[in-house]
This record gives sequence, C-alpha cells and structure tokens, in this order.
Amino acid sequence: MAELANYQKVVIDQDTCISCGACVAACPYQALELDENGKSRLIWEMCRDDFSCVAVCPVKCIYKTSEAPAEFKAKTGWYKFGKALSPEEQKAYEEWKSKYGVTAPPV
Ligand code: SF4
Ligand code: SF4
Repeated sequence: MAELANYQKVVIDQDTCISCGACVAACPYQALELDENGKSRLIWEMCRDDFSCVAVCPVKCIYKTSEAPAEFKAKTGWYKFGKALSPEEQKAYEEWKSKYGVTAPPV
C-alpha cells in the first residue's frame, strides 16, 4: 500500500458542477458519487489517478490536484472518506494535503 502516497487524485469545484453524472459513470474505481445536492464528490481513498473524470466533465470543473486553483482546494464538500482510513491511508492523506496544499477537511 506504500504507493498510496503517490496518488495525486482530483479536486472538484462543486459550484460549477452541473450534476450531469458523467464523471461518476466514467470513473473505473467507483471513486465518485453525486452528493445530497447532486454535486460530484470524491471518495478519497478510492481514487487512482487515471483521470477519466477530468476528461469527461463538460464544464471542466474537475482538476488534477496539482493543477487545481487554491480557492477550490479550500472549499468544503468535494471529498469524503468512504470508510475509516487505515494508518497507512491516514499517513498518505496527511502527505497529500501537505504536498498539494489542500486545506478543506473531508465531509
Ligand atoms: S482520477 Fe480516476 S479514479 Fe480518481 S475520481 Fe477521477 S476517474 Fe476516478
Ligand atoms: S462530469 Fe463535471 S458537471 Fe458532470 S457531475 Fe461530474 S463534476 Fe459535475
């Protein structure tokens, strides 16, 4: 599981999302869902960097984390954990936040 720390994952600007569901359908790892407001949300520990979602979003509101504007990385609501993280996942999460400057907490 050491490679977990290498995944950069994605950031979603939910204010721009039009709830089309294309990203949810395209993700091969079931790492996206539509939340209670119909906006796309990342299930953090499931994401594996193939970036299919980035390519299909019609309003271009999904970003590789390394390319996401800081304001979007500070908004809450766009990611959650699907389960309690293992210690290794927790470590990878802390490294990810630090490396990419993600300031928003999970939902
Ligand atoms: S980057 Fe890939 S695995 Fe991650 S949410 Fe997008 S489609 Fe799913
Ligand atoms: S593809 Fe884009 S607009 Fe459609 S649900 Fe996903 S994030 Fe929202």
